[in-house]
Amino acid sequence: MKIISSIGEMESYSRDARQKKQKIGFVPTMGAFHEGHLSLMRAAEKECDIVIVSVFVNRLQFSPNEDFDKYPRDMEQDKKLAEAAGVSVLFAPTADEMYPEDFSTHVEVTARCARSLCAKRRVGHFKGVTTVLAKLFNICRPNEAYFGQKDAQQAVIVKKMVRDLNLPITVQVMSIVREKDGLAMSSRNAYLSPEERVQATALYGALKEARNIIGAGEISAARVKNKIEQILKKEKKLKIDYVEIVNAETLESVDRIDSNTLIAIAVFVGETRLIDNIMVSRATANL
Ligand code: AMP
Repeated sequence: MKIISSIGEMESYSRDARQKKQKIGFVPTMGAFHEGHLSLMRAAEKECDIVIVSVFVNRLQFSPNEDFDKYPRDMEQDKKLAEAAGVSVLFAPTADEMYPEDFSTHVEVTARCARSLCAKRRVGHFKGVTTVLAKLFNICRPNEAYFGQKDAQQAVIVKKMVRDLNLPITVQVMSIVREKDGLAMSSRNAYLSPEERVQATALYGALKEARNIIGAGEISAARVKNKIEQILKKEKKLKIDYVEIVNAETLESVDRIDSNTLIAIAVFVGETRLIDNIMVSRATANL
């Protein structure tokens, strides 16, 4: 596996691969790999000739009061895991080269999908994400880019950017990888104290219960939301940021569960803000 940190070197590597008609799969990450990241790399490895994984903790997508400084970083471990997952290139650019002093161009999706859910609390977050991705896509020139359903809103926004800007990239969205007890894997889980870690299982617990009541015939979004909130409120360390029931494509709130509904939640577990989601559909009721 090659480690590249210079943008110029990465560009010429991708240009060569493109000339050789090799199919490039790309997995953008902020490092501190876990099974969620590795599932994207393995999927890319199966479908593509070359897999490029970027590791870049993108300051632009963190608000000043967020965890940029303490975000977990473990390059040595990341190298080992990526190599074992069949990655061809680990691209770890420097912040100075990505954002030189005179950097002044941003890419922003302004559709409603980029204004709901996490965008309300994390102002500027998605603009930071789409800006860095636009740069990374240009540098790495992938045919396929792999994202996790864990960050469902990010995946919707990236698809919109790719469509709106006619980027010649297919966006693939892979299922959420969970711990044995259901907690969605996240680099931020490392922040949890043992007690918080136990209470954090209520996130998926609440989503599963929502799925159960929908399976039993519930179609009112308000009642499903209420049920989820009740379950989350039982845990002392949890503070709900949002529980939203939305159309999975537009991310606009719905009153009734239908065939393409996403339940998305964001919850503070102590100081740590975690997100999770599930897709549900009325059809579940008939299974
Ligand atoms: P991050 O390093 O947190 O920016 O994540 C990089 C990519 O991994 C994003 O596309 C995430 O959605 C994806 N990802 C993170 N956690 C998971 C997970 N538990 N399951 C699947 N994909 C994930």
